[in-house]
Amino acid sequence: MFRTADAVVIGAGVNGASTAYNLVKAGLRKVVLLEKGLIASGGTGRSAAIIRQHYSHPDLVRLVKRSVEIFHHFDDEVGGSPGFVNCGWAFLVPDYVSEGFDRNLEMQRSLGIDTREIDRRQLLEMEPRIDLGGVDRIAWEPGAGYADPHATTAAYAGRFRDRGGRLLSLTPVEGLRVEGGRVAGVRTPRGEISTGVVVNAAGPWAGRVAAWAGVEAPIQVTREEEILMETAEVGGPPRLVFSDMAKAIYYRPHGPSRTLVGRGFPKEYRQVDPDGYERSADADFIRETRDRFLQRFPSFHKALAIDAYTGLYDVTPDWNPILGRVEGVEGFYMCAGFSGHGFKIAPGVGELMAEEIVAGQARAADISRFSLSRFRRGDLIGGAYGGNRA
Ligand SMILES: Cc1cc2nc3c(=O)[nH]c(=O)nc-3n(C[C@H](O)[C@H](O)[C@H](O)COP(=O)(O)OP(=O)(O)OC[C@H]3O[C@@H](n4cnc5c(N)ncnc54)[C@H](O)[C@@H]3O)c2cc1C
Repeated sequence: MFRTADAVVIGAGVNGASTAYNLVKAGLRKVVLLEKGLIASGGTGRSAAIIRQHYSHPDLVRLVKRSVEIFHHFDDEVGGSPGFVNCGWAFLVPDYVSEGFDRNLEMQRSLGIDTREIDRRQLLEMEPRIDLGGVDRIAWEPGAGYADPHATTAAYAGRFRDRGGRLLSLTPVEGLRVEGGRVAGVRTPRGEISTGVVVNAAGPWAGRVAAWAGVEAPIQVTREEEILMETAEVGGPPRLVFSDMAKAIYYRPHGPSRTLVGRGFPKEYRQVDPDGYERSADADFIRETRDRFLQRFPSFHKALAIDAYTGLYDVTPDWNPILGRVEGVEGFYMCAGFSGHGFKIAPGVGELMAEEIVAGQARAADISRFSLSRFRRGDLIGGAYGGNRA
């Protein structure tokens, strides 16, 4: 066990692992990544891991654009495979969001994203089995898809270790030492590690970790359910990834035969304690989500739900992450509050965090836009659609 470190990252979800990897890549020698359970055992392990670039804020678009570049060339950029499947993404929107939709497409294209509006006929050529009732407009992103959240996190953690980083799983951080307004160390059951840099990437537990530093982070934890359908005998899963705002669901292929379905905004979000929540999905959720999906794919009516489970979101007041240094506690950095959309941006987030910590100034995007202090200033980040669609 290291007794001292240049930096300690708390939490080996995809964002902690990506940040730890980028810290050693940027030149820090002794970086420790501490995980209370196993890697990807928080929100990451349950993620639908949908990767699309349709965001409302230019700095999020910059982050996700860089991330998608990395997902496409992961073996060259990082090393290993994130299980990325580039099947494309369609966004089905109802008529009441048209204005934000136009604005977003224009802004995304101005930042170099390959995206456009397509009509029903063009979508039906790609996926003829879908019923487009209630859909007003459709955005299409050919470079999008989904990845494997465990494989992505494992690849980052693996390359972190290859470069000399130290990963300690099953090692909870139990407290922080802060002296004279500076971070000085972290306490674990295996002893204390002295360090001047702590990154809080503890996902749903990040509010607690922040409190140890005397910092209030406005993060609520909500329970999110998903179902898995066996779609082998109905012609196979949808051929692309869909975010279906018109039905408030999302669905994507899960391997060659199965379909993953979850509920998206608008919906009711239930707050829970991350250490004590109902882990199985509710019967009502399973019925309603399956019904909504089958309304879209009527020919799938014989498909059976074969699994259903829950995961956790760490949600901030404006549904966007808290990134970067924290005023008043030197050396304490937030990398949390990803609000249900933090998988797809993790590769870019890791680079941004490393720039901020090692070079002293993030360059890839305006990290100050994601600062904790935005909540105190009332300078929240707006989004065209609400919730984690951001
Ligand atoms: C059902 C579901 C579907 C989703 N779908 C998508 C999607 O399609 N696309 C997308 O982009 N995002 C999606 N997300 C969101 C995305 O998965 C998360 O935002 C992202 O994975 C969060 O990663 P993280 O590393 O920030 O946090 P987490 O994965 O939650 O990791 C935090 C880690 O910190 C550890 N930890 C906590 N406290 C301590 C401590 N004291 N000491 C040591 N370790 C600690 C935890 O054990 C955990 O492993 C989804 C999330 C869920 C739940």
